[in-house]
Amino acid sequence: MQLSAASMGNPPTGDGGPTALEARLERVRQLLGIDGALLALAGGETMQVLWHAGASAEIEGELAGLHRRAGLRTTPLIVPDIAAEGSPGFVRFYAGIPLTLGEDSPHLLLSLFDTSPRGPAMADQLAALAQEVFGGDALQRAQATIARLEAELAERERTVAELLAIRRRQMQLVDRASETARIGIWECDLSDNSLQWSNGVYDLFEFPRGAKVSREETVACYSPASREAMERARAKAIAECSDFALDAEITTVLGRRRWMRLTGTVEAENGVAVRIFGMKQDITEEKLLADRTRYLAEFDVMTGLANRSQFQARLADLDGGSGHAPIGALLLVDLDNFKQINDTYGHALGDECLKEAASRLRDACPGAELVARIGGEEFAVLLGQAGKNHIDEVAEQIVLEISRPFMRLGQSLALSASVGIACADGAPPPDLFKRADTALYAAKAAGRNTSRTFHTGMPYTVN
Ligand code: GH3
Ligand code: MG
Ligand code: MG
Repeated sequence: MQLSAASMGNPPTGDGGPTALEARLERVRQLLGIDGALLALAGGETMQVLWHAGASAEIEGELAGLHRRAGLRTTPLIVPDIAAEGSPGFVRFYAGIPLTLGEDSPHLLLSLFDTSPRGPAMADQLAALAQEVFGGDALQRAQATIARLEAELAERERTVAELLAIRRRQMQLVDRASETARIGIWECDLSDNSLQWSNGVYDLFEFPRGAKVSREETVACYSPASREAMERARAKAIAECSDFALDAEITTVLGRRRWMRLTGTVEAENGVAVRIFGMKQDITEEKLLADRTRYLAEFDVMTGLANRSQFQARLADLDGGSGHAPIGALLLVDLDNFKQINDTYGHALGDECLKEAASRLRDACPGAELVARIGGEEFAVLLGQAGKNHIDEVAEQIVLEISRPFMRLGQSLALSASVGIACADGAPPPDLFKRADTALYAAKAAGRNTSRTFHTGMPYTVN
């Protein structure tokens, strides 16, 4: 048993028991004319001081050995002169009197001490007197108080156990929710860059759960562009002790490409960043869906060219105000007699012809700002600012390329296209389109498989 200084201090007064016992201890001390008395619980591993009078932590420390010996006995341990036993100290007289509260009850120890020695007879008398004074209802009261304290302790232990169970349950819920949301928690100690991950992050990078992973190994999983963006955002957040968030592309250790949403919060001590922590969420599916949706919104699935809506958005920005290059010319390209192709070879082969025509169109104008399919067998090309000769050359190249025969499903097929050209001269986008359409009409009228550039003498003129 060990008497700890931390056990010093009388229990809080509640129902009057402790106060009364404390007062009684004090009376015993005064009656016997000794320096101090204390009552301790002598069961279990540690000696717990319940009440004391005239004792200090230092004195209790000095008495620890005697308490230990007395606590093991059923009869009083009386030491008239401690110095005579060969262990000099501040306290000279000690009497430890075991008090039994009854069967199954904890064992109490009443200790008396004084800085002056007592004669053996006097010491015995003091011990007997103390036992008498302290007996009777005082012991019963002590027993009741101890029972109450033990009940309170048991209640507190129950509450702690319940709180732990709630916490465990909450952690399980967090784990399950994180798994469903494909989220993991990460933490990096900035003193040595060591990492702490929840299972979600291990799963995201496909490292074995709980493995020791270095920051270098993790960073190596990022694509070069994402790595640069992440390091830049991280360094800025550390410098400013702020937060960051970005989407990053990684290749897992098992070789799978994934996208993750990364958030980080810098924790600082005295203005110095010491730790970063945050979340990593697998957003691969969301990203693929968003990419696909964006693709469908902007591209023609059959040919892979820009679709009509992308064309219209780009045409509306003729001057390049939103960061694009200004437009110099619009070329409308329409396949000739395409209905006949369908009628002759069938719709499926017609589709093949459209794909081939789209691919050739793209090859014929490599420097174009945009090549789009804007209708069934109608295409549009937006050229950047260029001289008239270059525009004519591109139109000529388109007509030439599309008219080259090609083989599909064992058949030699021949297509041709007509091209209408309108040069941008500050006219609004709808007018530019009408002019190109007029020129296209003129090319058709001229026998197809050729191009025409709009001029004001054409049948349709926009002011
Ligand atoms: P023109 O020389 O005057 O342009 O004659 P055309 O036959 O090409 O013109 P028209 O507008 O009469 O017919 C266009 C044809 O394009 C009709 C339609 O069946 C075909 N077409 C439109 N979209 C598709 C498609 O997605 N696949 C196939 N196979 N054919 C298509
Ligand atoms: Mg046509
Ligand atoms: Mg047409």
